Amino acid sequence: MTSQLFDHHIHSDRSDGTVSLEDRAKTVAIRPHGVSDHYPWRDKLPNEDAVKRYIDDATKLGLRVGIEYDLGVAPPLSRATRDALQYVIGAIHNLAVDGELIRYDDAGAFVKGRLKEFPRRDRFADPILQRKILERTLAVVAEGIERDRIDILGHPTFSALQALGDPEQVYPEEWQLRLIDLCVTSGTAIEVNESYGVPHREFLVRAAAAGALFSVGTDTHFSLKPLDKTDAMIADAGLDRARFLAGSRMTASPG
Ligand SMILES: [Zn+2]
Ligand SMILES: [Zn+2]
Repeated sequence: MTSQLFDHHIHSDRSDGTVSLEDRAKTVAIRPHGVSDHYPWRDKLPNEDAVKRYIDDATKLGLRVGIEYDLGVAPPLSRATRDALQYVIGAIHNLAVDGELIRYDDAGAFVKGRLKEFPRRDRFADPILQRKILERTLAVVAEGIERDRIDILGHPTFSALQALGDPEQVYPEEWQLRLIDLCVTSGTAIEVNESYGVPHREFLVRAAAAGALFSVGTDTHFSLKPLDKTDAMIADAGLDRARFLAGSRMTASPG
């Protein structure tokens, strides 16, 4: 049996998950995982003081603590808070394009199988809007890497465009390579996200060829399940399990 990879992306009831930190701490023995709740999150994680309490509470329970930092939305974290976290997952959940905030909620619900139809399919079929989303996505990821020093890019190719169908059609290869290059040159790990089923196989193969680091993130909001689907995605793309993060950020290379 192969050793179990560390699952960095797990929610608790400190944001929109259904499981308490106490109960999350009990399942670490089943397979290794941390917790990484949304920041910011409404009244539960509204500011950095709340993040500090979250880190303290989860650490006392023996959990490794990360955060799912809302790229393009979250205020910058102080150096001390970032350093107190084992890792920061940066992820995009909506995108400001031409002054309008494009929400990805229904696309996410559709991709996860909770909606039968994607209600805004016609709108996102517009190639001009698609191009703007693709370019804006790269800019927001670059800011997260440079300004916020994220360690992991969460659900990397998820967007409203994913809900349109074949990712090899909606994400041009040159765009995929630019996104991969942002991650590889900065040492940011590419998350294999089980909930959204991203990135797709071809993206993962390209990322591996470029020398990327990877990270497991089931992104569960419910009880812990086996890593079967993630293991299948990894095997399918032939990823090297030695290239995966193991519950903390890579220490900065000297110089
Ligand atoms: Zn997310
Ligand atoms: Zn998440």
